[in-house]
Amino acid sequence: MKRSALVLFSGGQDSTTCLAHALQRYERVETLSFDYGQRHRVELDARRHVLRELRAAFPVWAARLGEDHLLDLSVLGQVSETSLTRDVAFQMETSGLPNTFVPGRNLLFLTLAAALAYRRGLEVVVTGVCETDYSGYPDCRDDTIKALQVALSLGLDRRTVLETPLMWLDKAQTWQLAHELGGTALVDLILEHSHTCYAGDRSQRHAWGYGCGQCPACELRARGWQQYAAEG
Ligand code: ZN
Repeated sequence: MKRSALVLFSGGQDSTTCLAHALQRYERVETLSFDYGQRHRVELDARRHVLRELRAAFPVWAARLGEDHLLDLSVLGQVSETSLTRDVAFQMETSGLPNTFVPGRNLLFLTLAAALAYRRGLEVVVTGVCETDYSGYPDCRDDTIKALQVALSLGLDRRTVLETPLMWLDKAQTWQLAHELGGTALVDLILEHSHTCYAGDRSQRHAWGYGCGQCPACELRARGWQQYAAEG
């Protein structure tokens, strides 16, 4: 029985749901994110707000929630030119991938997370990657994660578990999972405080939360919410 986890936590809907999943399951949970010159500091602000609200609304989880880590990964800006780190508009590339794609980014994130988990004595790394409802990032695929888990276990000479609770869920099912974990209070918290929009827009509040309503992240979130709300 594993007892502790490190959650890759960006402050979005998916990673907030993963954090709740870990807090439900493990006695000690720490969080990790990366600062790589995101165009929108709003994402880093969302993290702080979500952590604060989770602590306030869920005392049992608050007792389990430990240190929050933020690693400087500005080097990513040196190896990639994407709409996440540069001031260019979101678009699809000829490769069929969106220009938010940073080659190998998730491999790097998970490798650093495993190294940090090793040092902190945390047994599981939890990440919100998802193959079902996604832009097709190849380093979020189940096969990639499983291969990396093997590589990390060998390279660290310690069993490394990469847990992916959302891998086969669509966005409506992710809302459903949030409801199962923390009821309406958690769903409302995610709606109000998590941030997904690529454009960093928090000026408009929709039924599904804040965002520009136009970018692919907003479209996905809105569609998932509408489906979830219709089923509920
Ligand atoms: Zn948006």
